[in-house]
Amino acid sequence: MNFSRLEGNDNLKKTLMELESANRMPHAVIISGGSEEKRGELSLHLSMWAVCSDSDKPCGKCKNCLNAHEKAHSDVYYAKGSGKTNIYNKEEIERVIRDASVKPNQADRKVYVLEECDKRLPVISQNAFLKTLEEPPQDVLFIMTCENPMALLETIRSRAVIFTLESDRTPSGNALSAAKEIAEGMVSSSEMRLMKATYLLNERALALDALDALILLLRDGLALCLGAEAELDPETAERLCRKLTRSKFLKAIELTRDAKSKIYSNVSLKLISVWLCAEYRRNVWQK
Ligand SMILES: [Zn+2]
Repeated sequence: MNFSRLEGNDNLKKTLMELESANRMPHAVIISGGSEEKRGELSLHLSMWAVCSDSDKPCGKCKNCLNAHEKAHSDVYYAKGSGKTNIYNKEEIERVIRDASVKPNQADRKVYVLEECDKRLPVISQNAFLKTLEEPPQDVLFIMTCENPMALLETIRSRAVIFTLESDRTPSGNALSAAKEIAEGMVSSSEMRLMKATYLLNERALALDALDALILLLRDGLALCLGAEAELDPETAERLCRKLTRSKFLKAIELTRDAKSKIYSNVSLKLISVWLCAEYRRNVWQK
């Protein structure tokens, strides 16, 4: 796969290359994480790849690539959505399904792009989509993008391959200092310290950023613990490293991701901070 147009995300690129060379590119993918713009970039890249007529796909030069890049290829369909919030209703999904069974016009494949599915693809439409995702027609690629795949039905997720983009936001000063407080609280013997720190997650946007920053701090600590260098904040990394083992680092990262999913599912921030406090304590202090 030709990545001349795509920056960063080396692990993801490796996965894509492996899938392509094993001829195992999936029929349905979910592009998650990163920013909406980055998700759009990868989705465009994959749609060009799917229709490109060169051997080094996507070449970016053939007619198929150029048209796909302009979102004007007759075999690449962007679902439009309806209503104020651009919801993909059941009727639209049924149209996509019918259309997907018809052979492509010019390219070897057809592509259907459904953007921001965690917000735009309601459960009734997800259910209408299930059977087709399970037994997709030949030569079709379904691309769904979303910020948080956990907001989609498990049955949808399990029928697609999820590609997660790296977060490219550098944490804001506020988010980073809240994250540091939580990291310090996590390894402090005082439960009150951790509780106070998790209570800083009292506003949605800040909480999401702080949890992202915390994941970076934990990864930093894990790197140090595995003998690499901590890049973001060596001091915090060292403090974490003194208390956490590799598996405890991994568990803490998983808990932090779960907390983000809870925020996306609109669980109250107060409940989340209480839950996080208890789970972090259990993780760090249990033998
Ligand atoms: Zn091409």
